[in-house]
This record gives sequence, structure tokens and C-alpha cells, in this order.
Amino acid sequence: MKRLLTVMIFLMAFVYLIPLFTVGPGGIAEIEQGNTPTDTEEKDTFDSRTEITLWDGEEVLTLPLDKYLRGVVAAEMPASFPEEALKAQALAARTYTLYQLSLYENGMSIPESHHGAQLCADHTHCKAWCELESEADKKWGNEADFYLDKIGKAVDDTCGIIATYGGQPIAAVFHSTSSERTESAAAVWGNETPYLVSVESPGSEASPRYKGEVRISQEEFREKMLEAHPEMDLSSSPDKWFKASQRSEAGGIIDVAVGGVRVEGTWLRQVLGMDSTNFTYSVNGDELVFSTTGYGHGVGMSQYGAKALAEQGKKCEEIIKWYYTGVELTIKT
Ligand SMILES: [Zn+2]
Repeated sequence: MKRLLTVMIFLMAFVYLIPLFTVGPGGIAEIEQGNTPTDTEEKDTFDSRTEITLWDGEEVLTLPLDKYLRGVVAAEMPASFPEEALKAQALAARTYTLYQLSLYENGMSIPESHHGAQLCADHTHCKAWCELESEADKKWGNEADFYLDKIGKAVDDTCGIIATYGGQPIAAVFHSTSSERTESAAAVWGNETPYLVSVESPGSEASPRYKGEVRISQEEFREKMLEAHPEMDLSSSPDKWFKASQRSEAGGIIDVAVGGVRVEGTWLRQVLGMDSTNFTYSVNGDELVFSTTGYGHGVGMSQYGAKALAEQGKKCEEIIKWYYTGVELTIKT
């Protein structure tokens, strides 16, 4: 399905009707001047004019894109992160949103879990989102105004700007924490995507989820495996259950033989509730111990990597181009 969608996107490159303009050599700074409204001026920007519908878990909301993006940035990235990292998050979220909308324009039907809305607030499906009017005080207490301004600025400073490849908005996926490299889309989802290849990613150790662990009894592990794959042979001692793993360039398990049956790393991650597919395992008495590196699928922009790059002085545009290979920044008006 994913491969089909990727093919569709490239095929639709020629029928995409909304005009796109490539960002000039002056980069984002050049564009900002034209997009920042004064206090007295009514906001009329791409982000304020574009409306999306969102299933928030209870009802379908209709929101201007800028309000939606503020809720995404707040829910997806700590507001204490540097400004340039927050801007990169806003730009990636805007891009991914327009990518999703382009899929609908090109004939994809709305998933049932969306209750008719274009997007949902489930971070495992679309992107996390929070209603800032009610959540800001809970999230940030006395500092709510400060962080609301900071997030609002990250969205406004990148207003209308998206990452494109071949003139089209990219599937700007992101995740919390990489290993030392990001994963390629090919290694994790099986579809070659030119802008989602493995790249170096700094700063992962600063993440509280850099290293993780899942412990599970032998019996429970056996039950989970046999439920899905009754043909597995788990009669030998547990240190012999895993064999011949195939790892990606970034270290994630692509697939591995468990009890003689080849399964995908992404499947094991989901069934065992691991933080990532980059894991080793050991046997400790009755328990199997899975030790993970990184948090999330590992593809596209690493949020902790964006933080580290921003701390090194890299700008939003450089962070985006670091993680999404060969993309251009384009402004929609
Ligand atoms: Zn969704």
C-alpha cells in the first residue's frame, strides 16, 4: 500500500495545481519579512487561510493550518528545545500535512479511524496534537505565555514553507531519537524513498529514551510468538531462539529468524512494545531482556538530532536538509 502511494505521489507530480515557489538563496530569512503581519494588520497568510479537519479523539474540528501546527509542535517536541529545532519541527509538520492532503486530492480515501476528518491526533497514525487553549497552563504552568509565544513564532517564522522533492511535498516523517544514524524508509517500511535515506544523527545520548529495555518471561514470549506463528520451534534453550539477524546501516533489525521463522524487526518491536527495532537480547534466568537504542521508527528527522544541530548553530533550513536528503524548501502562497 505504502509503495503504491509513493508511486502515486510521483505520478501526480504533473497535475498538482497549487502554485509552488522555490525558496531563494536568501533562505527563510528572506521570506519571513513578507509573511510577518504587524500587530494592527489582519493575518492573511497561507497558514491562516488553509483549513484542515482533525479528529481529536472525540469530535471532528475544523482548524486553520497555523493553529493546527501550533498544537502539533507543542505535542510533538519539548517547547524548551531551541528555536531553530522548533521551526524545523513546524516545517516538517506542515510539509507532512500537505503531503497527506495531496494523497486525498489524488484519490486516496480517508482512513476509517479518522471519522471523516483529513487528519487525526493519534501520534502513531498521523501526528500528535493538543488543544493549546486548554492544555497550555497544564503543560507549562507560569511559563505558558512564554512557551505559547515561542511555539507561535516557530510556526509563523516558517509560514507557508514546506520541503519538496521533485516539486512535491515530501512525506516528512520524524521520530524522537535515532541511534547514531537515522533509518532509511527502505529498511523500515520496504519502500525506497530518495529523500528518506540513512544519515548521521548527532545528540541522541541527550534523549531520556536513548537506551531502553523490555523484560519478558520466557513463557510470555513463547505465547506471543506462537500465537502469531504456531510453526515456530521454541523448544530449545532461549539463547538459541534468535538467529541470522539482518541489520540496517543504522543498526535496526530488518528481519531475524525466531524459532526458525523469519519475522520483521518492526513486527517484533510492536509485539514486544520496544522503543525501536535497534535491539540486542540476552537471557537472564527466566527472563528475556531486550535492550534498545533510540526511540521511534528512526526514519526522517530525529527530534533530539534537530536539537543538537540547533545547539551547534545550524538553522532550520540546514536541519531540514540534513535529515531529508536532496529536498528543496518551497513557499506556498
Ligand atoms: Zn491519522
